[in-house]
Amino acid sequence: MSVKEVFKLDRDTIDDRFRLDGDAGAAYQYFGEGAVGGGFVYTNKRSVSVGVVYRVEDAAAGQTPEATLDAFESHPAVAPLIRGGRRIEYSAHVVPEGGARAMPDLVHDGAVVVGDAAGLVLNSGVHLEGTNMAVESGYHAGKAIAAALADGRSDAEALAAYARDLDQSFVVENLRHYDWFQRTIAADRQFLFEDLPRALASAETEYFKMDRASKDEHTGAARDHLVAAAGGWFGAAKRAWRFRRMLS
Ligand SMILES: Cc1cc2nc3c(=O)[nH]c(=O)nc-3n(C[C@H](O)[C@H](O)[C@H](O)COP(=O)(O)OP(=O)(O)OC[C@H]3O[C@@H](n4cnc5c(N)ncnc54)[C@H](O)[C@@H]3O)c2cc1C
Repeated sequence: MSVKEVFKLDRDTIDDRFRLDGDAGAAYQYFGEGAVGGGFVYTNKRSVSVGVVYRVEDAAAGQTPEATLDAFESHPAVAPLIRGGRRIEYSAHVVPEGGARAMPDLVHDGAVVVGDAAGLVLNSGVHLEGTNMAVESGYHAGKAIAAALADGRSDAEALAAYARDLDQSFVVENLRHYDWFQRTIAADRQFLFEDLPRALASAETEYFKMDRASKDEHTGAARDHLVAAAGGWFGAAKRAWRFRRMLS
């Protein structure tokens, strides 16, 4: 689930704050805390969009989406980017994340289901793709509809080419590739969304520290932060095994 607000700012202010030139834009992504999710800030020509995306289960257990978005917008990393902006839009959107297993029947008598309605979103925490999948599914659906109508038909059997073509496309292939991911990150949320970001920050601080201690000591301390967060060397190996499919 996602909630987003759009803040109106003039073009020069946006260019200055995001260090942009010409037609360039910027998109910043933030890793979540306390929920499986994150935040985003991106520039439009004369406005800036700010939002958070997280699992509905986390929303039910904790604060309201408005409070989560307010907290994100008040964060020192985000507040200066939108300071003085006039809020001109507020929206909420559900992001399907069931993957290939959660796809509904795509073809019915007189109807096909495409895009988000068909669950065609790859929301893996690493990738957030859906526009491309909506377009691709619309393309295959359009081809099947045109062929069916040319035969004077619109029943499910005549439209079945849509489901077959989609099944062979990058859309379903990519959804299958990440079928395991949502369950795995949800099961390891304490590590991924709380312990690991904190350990990375501490390790980085340690690694670049300049004082009278040797680099050996700092490197060792940085490594210890990471290994401890992962549950020791055995825990780190188990996690590397669990996430091996990200690289396969
Ligand atoms: C916060 C967020 C960030 C995202 N980032 C990315 C990204 O970076 N890259 C990417 O590829 N994808 C991204 N996505 C996903 C992408 O936006 C969607 O997958 C894509 O828009 C789906 O297109 P769609 O046409 O299927 O559905 P939608 O874009 O949702 O369009 C459906 C339309 O139908 C309208 N509608 C609904 N009900 C009715 C009704 N009863 N009558 C008439 N109209 C109706 C809605 O108002 C809407 O305009 C993101 C999604 C979110 C929420």
